[in-house]
Amino acid sequence: MLFTSAGMQPIVPYFLGKKQPPAKRLVTVQKCFRTTDLDIVGFDTYHNTFFEMLGNFGIGDYWKKEAIGWGWELLTTQFEIDPASLVATVYFDDDEAFDIWTKELALLEPDKVFRLGNLAKGDDTNFWSPGPTGLCGPCSEVFVDRGPQPGTKPHDCNPGEDCGRYLEIWNFVFQQYDRKADGTLVPLSKRNIDTGAGLERTSQVLQGVTDTFKTDLFLPLMKRIETLSASAYGDDPVRDVSMRVIAEHARAAAFLIADGIAPSNEGRGYVLRRLIRRAALHARRLDLKTGAITQVAGEVVKSMQKHYHELTAARERVAETITAEEEKFERTLSSGMEQLTAAIASAKERAQAAIDGDTAFRLYDTFGFPMEMTRELVTAAGLTVDEAGFKTLLDAQRQRGRAAAKFSQDAMRFGQLYADAHEKQGLRSEFTGYAELASDATIRSLAIGGQRVDEAREGQDVEIVLDRTPFYPEGGGQVGDRGDVTTSEGRALVADTQTAATDVIVMSAKVVDGVLRVGAPARAQVDEDARRHTMRNHTATHLLHATLRRLFGEDVHQAGSLVHAPNLRFDFTFGRSLTAEELRRVEDEVNDAILSNASVHSQTMPLQDALASGATHLFDEKYGDEVRVVEAGPTSRELCGGTHCHCTGDIGLFLITKEESIGAGVRRIEAVTGEGALREVHDMRDRVDRASQALKVPAARLPEAVAQMQESRERLEKQLASLQKSGVDQTAGALVAKAEALDGARLVVKDVGDYDQQMLRGLADRVRDGLGTGVAVLGSTHAGRPGLAIAVSKDLTARVHAGDLVKELASIIDGSGGGPANSATGGGKDAARLGDALHAGARAVREKLGGRG
Ligand code: ATP
Ligand code: MG
Repeated sequence: MLFTSAGMQPIVPYFLGKKQPPAKRLVTVQKCFRTTDLDIVGFDTYHNTFFEMLGNFGIGDYWKKEAIGWGWELLTTQFEIDPASLVATVYFDDDEAFDIWTKELALLEPDKVFRLGNLAKGDDTNFWSPGPTGLCGPCSEVFVDRGPQPGTKPHDCNPGEDCGRYLEIWNFVFQQYDRKADGTLVPLSKRNIDTGAGLERTSQVLQGVTDTFKTDLFLPLMKRIETLSASAYGDDPVRDVSMRVIAEHARAAAFLIADGIAPSNEGRGYVLRRLIRRAALHARRLDLKTGAITQVAGEVVKSMQKHYHELTAARERVAETITAEEEKFERTLSSGMEQLTAAIASAKERAQAAIDGDTAFRLYDTFGFPMEMTRELVTAAGLTVDEAGFKTLLDAQRQRGRAAAKFSQDAMRFGQLYADAHEKQGLRSEFTGYAELASDATIRSLAIGGQRVDEAREGQDVEIVLDRTPFYPEGGGQVGDRGDVTTSEGRALVADTQTAATDVIVMSAKVVDGVLRVGAPARAQVDEDARRHTMRNHTATHLLHATLRRLFGEDVHQAGSLVHAPNLRFDFTFGRSLTAEELRRVEDEVNDAILSNASVHSQTMPLQDALASGATHLFDEKYGDEVRVVEAGPTSRELCGGTHCHCTGDIGLFLITKEESIGAGVRRIEAVTGEGALREVHDMRDRVDRASQALKVPAARLPEAVAQMQESRERLEKQLASLQKSGVDQTAGALVAKAEALDGARLVVKDVGDYDQQMLRGLADRVRDGLGTGVAVLGSTHAGRPGLAIAVSKDLTARVHAGDLVKELASIIDGSGGGPANSATGGGKDAARLGDALHAGARAVREKLGGRG
């Protein structure tokens, strides 16, 4: 369902009785994202794509009367919303809810409760159902009536119509039916309550503003946009739309990126791309520079990271991703816009109502204009788009399918060269690397700089194709092999191996000696060490995959993998981090499988048979009719073209080195095997040795020694603090003794030397307390920076406000400050003027308290 569009999504398993809820009454604060609302964002003032949903749930517990009653209480007595401004809706035949509103609880007059919707007439307003069958029920929504709106429909609209008069803030869903396939609604015995209120709209009402974008949630973003565009929000309705789009989309994009999504042309990535590009287009309308969206997203991170820590962690990725996308879009935008403007003009000239699908598709395909954006621009010009034509072209493109996509990827890397050579000249190479690491072969093709050549000489970078080769071409997560190719006349070092076209294996190499010629016999030798490490890591990856599925269920799916010599990296779908015990268990089970030393077999078979045998495969991978199945021990069967150990025992030792999240619901495990694992153990032992030498205890006693050290450190810190405190007390005492007497009060003004901000404030407070009725104005210089602290006894705060005074004094030392009336601090840059500031402070206090002046 493309992101979490409702607050109840995580609660569904409880509703369905599939999981035991932690309680019958639950509340949630849930990040939501509604792709469905993307196109209206900006055009009104209360729809976002990203918003925070506040949910209340009763699972087989309380029912309509409680839900409505409590909701009303919260709105009117806690939130103090004027009850006269509220109206509600119910499903047309939900008399139960209608009566609760109007009679039982008598909260609203009958003319303020609107009966809406009717499934039989195809109107599903106020009827909630997540699917064609299953749990469903009527709902009741609460709206704020904002009064007739200027410039909208003249008649008195109802809350079901979008006339801007009614702002929906809260929805109460009553899950009371199980809908059968034939449409009958069977009443449930265990009924659920699911309510959701948007934080943004609730804030809007509570903060008394007319617009989501004027709430404190959006204020920092709007301010930033105002600064960037040098214009005020609210000055011009057309520019206001753009400002809202930028603010909202920057916010949403930041959250999507923090959740691990990257811009792409499919699925979630495409939604993100649409957000950034739509925002970029509107930024351009405000004459903002490329990079503006990134800056606004920076404000999002700043203002929301306190509650959403994932933003802090993703700060740089957010900036990089948006900048890259903005720049990419910028490069094609101008020419795309020209094309579109021309197409609109020519359609108008020829009195056509629509832009042809061809143009729309070209804009999408070549210029990266999301179709929705083209539609928006065209609509603004009073035209439509030939949607059917566009769709035909899009479908045709998709149909060319993954093979084509793969082909174009290869073609991009290698040009048409190898595809042509394969098709026209039958260029192909046999892969011998499952069985051997060195093969005798003949050079079939050499290419330099994208051109086929007959020979390659010392120092040249060359692509080599042999008729048979043991070099594994990158695929299935396993990197391409390295090694060398030798002939009687020369030698080349191979840095990487790739499949350039069907059955064409290309080795990228550098000639280091003599010359290579097409047709010459050659010996191809894979770098044995690197390949053996890689094979260990590959087989271990299979064992890890099988273990994860066995321990955590079939929901664990591979989401990516990297197998190379140094280590292995395995990404998989899973909703939470693994505990230390779970990781240990995974490690143990993989090592058990290794110790059993089972042999690793591979077998080629029809895809159907492989799937029927339960072999693990990747859902979005395209397989041929014949596939290779690799079996490692009794539990691991996987479709795989990679190279593997002979026996699981070859892996040696398997150690997990890292477990982390790389996006919403996706975890990554990194591990080492064989020599890599040995190295890891050695490193660990070295670190332990170093620590035990430093602490002068045997390694076995390290944990206790560290605990003891921590304890004694805490003790010392406490002692130090109390010493400092008595030092402060002493200093405070000395200062109080020398206080200046004013009219009924005493004053201490002093530069006390090197104190940090916190200690200075503590000292000022002590002095004030010692004075009884009085004022302390202290200055210090710490690390080259001047600081100020002012403390005022309670009985004087009406005459001397510490916060105001410190602000005044801080400006003298080129800084700022503030705080409450009885204790405030400030800091600045100009240490040389600290004396002046203290002087001014003394003068000000004397004036106010009537001293000698
Ligand atoms: P609307 O009709 O205004 O689009 P909805 O009926 O789709 O809202 P619900 O699915 O009932 O909304 O969601 C419950 C609550 O979530 C709403 O009452 C509202 O406070 C909030 N909400 C829904 N959609 C959005 C949105 N796009 N932006 C901000 N808040 C929203
Ligand atoms: Mg609703």
